[in-house]
Amino acid sequence: MRIDVVSLFPDFVRQCAAVGVVGRAQQRQLLQVETWNPRDYTHDRHRTVDASSYGGGPGMVMMIEPLRATLAAVRNAAPEPAHVIYLSPQGSRLTQGRVEALASMPRIALLCGRYEGVDERLLAHEVDEELSIGDYVLSGGELAAAVVIDAVGRLQEGALNDALSAEQDSFANGLLDCPHYAKPVQDALGTVPEVLLSGDHAAIARWRLKQSLGRTWLRRPDLLSRCVLDETSRALLDE
Ligand code: SAM
Repeated sequence: MRIDVVSLFPDFVRQCAAVGVVGRAQQRQLLQVETWNPRDYTHDRHRTVDASSYGGGPGMVMMIEPLRATLAAVRNAAPEPAHVIYLSPQGSRLTQGRVEALASMPRIALLCGRYEGVDERLLAHEVDEELSIGDYVLSGGELAAAVVIDAVGRLQEGALNDALSAEQDSFANGLLDCPHYAKPVQDALGTVPEVLLSGDHAAIARWRLKQSLGRTWLRRPDLLSRCVLDETSRALLDE
């Protein structure tokens, strides 16, 4: 999969994408992250990308032309059509379901705003989707882009050393993940639940499912109303 990021801070985006699972996915050539700086598509001495907002008021707005030229270069850089996403607090909320859908696309392009945002006309004509990472306002879209890259990148086949780990993560089956423990078995902070040491795989799976259900009920009851357990899970609970 290829992700193109349009940003005034390309170094920051590249650094975020260079570490951990996503960095490894790039090394394994499962993911290609390319950055594009709109300042490279300006024609004035100051490499201007913003102008004041018509109607007055504080803050600058990212202008159409540098972004249009940047997006044209992005589109020309690879044969696959890019699904263009503007990161915005006004977009629809990013969910694991949406992440999974994006992860299955061959190519997406992420447009990071700064200042008061982007000229509305560019958004109307060049953007396919607006995505928000939450109901708060960041000073720029780069952190949101890094969130999308990380969430999408780790789902690329072969990115995680054990593909099962994504299947067991929170939201993957509509529930929150169960608690996890590592050595030592005994510690001043507590003891590892006995069932996890039993070697009884069915009992462990049942315990984990019950923990997931309990946690989801306590922490995110909204998820439970939408969750449909698969046959294996239902069989486990019936035992
Ligand atoms: N004036 C805009 C508004 O109130 O909707 C906010 C602009 S914000 C200061 C600058 C940029 O940060 C936005 O253009 C967007 O790209 C990014 N941004 C801010 N909050 C975000 C969020 N919750 N999710 C995704 N991107 C966000």
